[in-house]
Amino acid sequence: MSRFANYKSIIVVLSTIGSLAIGTPIKLSEEAISTTPSKAAGMSNCPRIVSRSEWRARSPTEEYLPMVVSPSSYVVAHHGGIPHYCYDETTCANIVRSYQDLHMDVNTWADIGYHFVIGGDGNVYEGRGWDHVGAHCPGYNGQGIGICIIGDYTSRMPNNASLEAFQSLIDCGISLGKVKPDYKLIGHRQGRDTQCPGETFYAHIKTMPHWEPNPVPLWGVSGKGVFKPGTKTANLTGTQRWTGLIALGVPMATSTRVGDGTIAEKAALNAAKKLIKCGVDSGKINKTYVLLAHKQVAQTACPGNKLFNVIKK
Ligand SMILES: [Zn+2]
Repeated sequence: MSRFANYKSIIVVLSTIGSLAIGTPIKLSEEAISTTPSKAAGMSNCPRIVSRSEWRARSPTEEYLPMVVSPSSYVVAHHGGIPHYCYDETTCANIVRSYQDLHMDVNTWADIGYHFVIGGDGNVYEGRGWDHVGAHCPGYNGQGIGICIIGDYTSRMPNNASLEAFQSLIDCGISLGKVKPDYKLIGHRQGRDTQCPGETFYAHIKTMPHWEPNPVPLWGVSGKGVFKPGTKTANLTGTQRWTGLIALGVPMATSTRVGDGTIAEKAALNAAKKLIKCGVDSGKINKTYVLLAHKQVAQTACPGNKLFNVIKK
């Protein structure tokens, strides 16, 4: 029987938006993800970056996704929102660990959500680093570096050491090619309903030269649990892996291009097939699943004629 005909079981919809979450978590060693400090060391623009092993970070529970936009076009400012402050590395590291515990144990995210955390000691503490999707601001997790200054800045400003580290970290990102020189700076509250980064700090951010009053979110990327379904199985990395996800419809509407016959696009289709197989094998998708295109269930041209022709086969 054709996979098209039967709607009785689980339905897989190929689309250009949406998200998927299947598969089992893969633990990565700290060495595998912690590349920032060694690269940053010695760069004149870079502040001291305390590595994950130095602040004794827990390992993430899932594999990271690469940033969607790189170099990043946004920097998102956060505050901790908790009136705990620190002026030495030991105390700051304790607080960073408490943020990580909160994000992992209470929010059940795969890791601390921020890309970097800054302490009143003027140090930068490495979170997810420059290269991985964060979990800090909806619409910006894949295109913006989330930087959190420890403390609550509702009615006071971060100290000078924190503010200097904040700017020098951004300059460092630019010098490393991780942040666009014409990056846009926003406060967390511009992306969602929150007081973060605190009224006083936000008023200051609005005076900074890169502040952007009208930011544009990029949807479809969630770093809460980091997406990693069949991608390991599909054996793709970096941009190739994103292309694989795009074919299955994560954020960018490029699927009309799929099927043009280039290597990356074949890889994307193969990744899509492997992802579905992975879902079936791991019991997340019914064996008798029905494959549909977005246009079959909604008023849309998605996923484009070329991909639709492929799907119909
Ligand atoms: Zn925030």
